[in-house]
Amino acid sequence: MDDYLESFGIYVHVPFCTSRCDYCAFHSSVNWTVDAQRTIVRRIIVDLHAIDPPRVPTTVYVGGGTPTALDPPLLDELLATLAARFAPVEFTLEANPESATDERLSIAAHHGVDRLSVGVQSLDPDTLRRIGRRGADVARIEAIRRRWPSTLSADLITGVPGVRPGSSRTDVDRLAAIGIDHVSVYGLSIEPETPLATRTRRGDAQAAEGWVELVDTIVSHGYRRYEVSNFSRGAPCLHNVGYWRQCDYIGVGPSAVSTIRVDPPDGSIAAIRIEQSIDHARWLSQPGWTNAATERLSMRDLMLEHLMLALRQVDGVSFARFTTRYGHDLRALAADEIDRLRDESLVVADRTTLRATRRGLDLLDPVLVRLFAAVCRNLDTVAT
Ligand code: SF4
Repeated sequence: MDDYLESFGIYVHVPFCTSRCDYCAFHSSVNWTVDAQRTIVRRIIVDLHAIDPPRVPTTVYVGGGTPTALDPPLLDELLATLAARFAPVEFTLEANPESATDERLSIAAHHGVDRLSVGVQSLDPDTLRRIGRRGADVARIEAIRRRWPSTLSADLITGVPGVRPGSSRTDVDRLAAIGIDHVSVYGLSIEPETPLATRTRRGDAQAAEGWVELVDTIVSHGYRRYEVSNFSRGAPCLHNVGYWRQCDYIGVGPSAVSTIRVDPPDGSIAAIRIEQSIDHARWLSQPGWTNAATERLSMRDLMLEHLMLALRQVDGVSFARFTTRYGHDLRALAADEIDRLRDESLVVADRTTLRATRRGLDLLDPVLVRLFAAVCRNLDTVAT
């Protein structure tokens, strides 16, 4: 059995927020009542009961939206169900600073949540104002740290147009001093039709502060980079590692995505990706996953996804695992391109593994484009 398949993820999407951030393209509603929350949570619980508890270690991640926007008794009901049904080996709750109240943190701890992932995004008031986000300040994050003894993770956004250079590095200095265990840093993506897109001039995003310097700052505080955007002073996020290792996961809630491996009769591998309806009324009106859109991922899709996800991680691609899964030797499929990338110090390859270098991690998109092209070219040659 491929050990990459030996974990299972449950993701719960809570589609409520207390306010709408200007850059957000996620699915969430700010116009809710407690009754509306109850209807959604009860339906999520019905769907959770329809899942057979997996026989492999299970991680649970409650995200959104903003799970801590839930009315406390509903948060209690949801977390109690997840804890009892799946006994997760890692149990993450996303939280926003303004709604991570003592009451909600107590509920989370009571049900065994052992990772709190706080959407800090920035501690700089000017940055928060520019992205239309509220909630985070040093005092609030310090208070959460005092109240939350187990793993505390912070999400940061970088690359906000117009902010003071070095702002994200200052945020990292502050978070490290507060004692944050894990940091995820994402470049701001200016999605079409968001309020931020309408007021951002073309080219502003390119003026963003340096990513390389930011990574240096994070690492200088003792965080280990284990994935392009993720850094930890302790354990990695097992749930996200499961995604990157292409473990099966089931998503529950409006707009949640699931991916389940299937074994076609021809001996190859494939997967089904299922996306639940984003429309609450439609999602509520049909039981189970019948409202969902389904996409079949071919072996080639999975192979390219494997390359992309594995190279995002510092562990890289295991040649043996790649061959076992797909029946192709990656070294044969992309030998010349791997040599060129190695000559440019973008990857290292030994007898067992292909890894991106530090420079390769920072320039991963073009590295992947070149590897994908080489792999597809050779697969087409094999097929003809
Ligand atoms: S809190 Fe998160 S999900 Fe909610 S609007 Fe802001 S970015 Fe979007």
